[in-house]
Amino acid sequence: MTLTIVKNATCTFCGCVCDDIELHADSERIVKTKGACSLGEAWFRNHTAEHLYPDALIDGHPATVDDAVERAAEIMHRANMPLVYGLSNITCEAQREAVTLAEMAGAIIDSHTSL
Ligand code: SF4
Repeated sequence: MTLTIVKNATCTFCGCVCDDIELHADSERIVKTKGACSLGEAWFRNHTAEHLYPDALIDGHPATVDDAVERAAEIMHRANMPLVYGLSNITCEAQREAVTLAEMAGAIIDSHTSL
């Protein structure tokens, strides 16, 4: 079995964004990590190239991304105290967009690390 080795991979799980992780992958999944903590290793090793979930959900039901964005905008628009929360499993570009959204909506922004 041939493994693909990726050096200096970035883990986006907890927000520390460790960027010196080595990953070993077969054709379907990551089989070994070097340099990740136990949380990061579990995160990397339990992700596959399979498409396990729908692109978006509305009230727990599969939806298009466009419909989900529209619904989210409606909720944000009606909110008295909007909160943009999470941000741990997304890219820097997506975090930047979330900050922009929070500024536009007059929202509070927070990450799960505040727990
Ligand atoms: S989960 Fe572990 S490896 Fe991943 S960013 Fe956080 S500390 Fe780093």
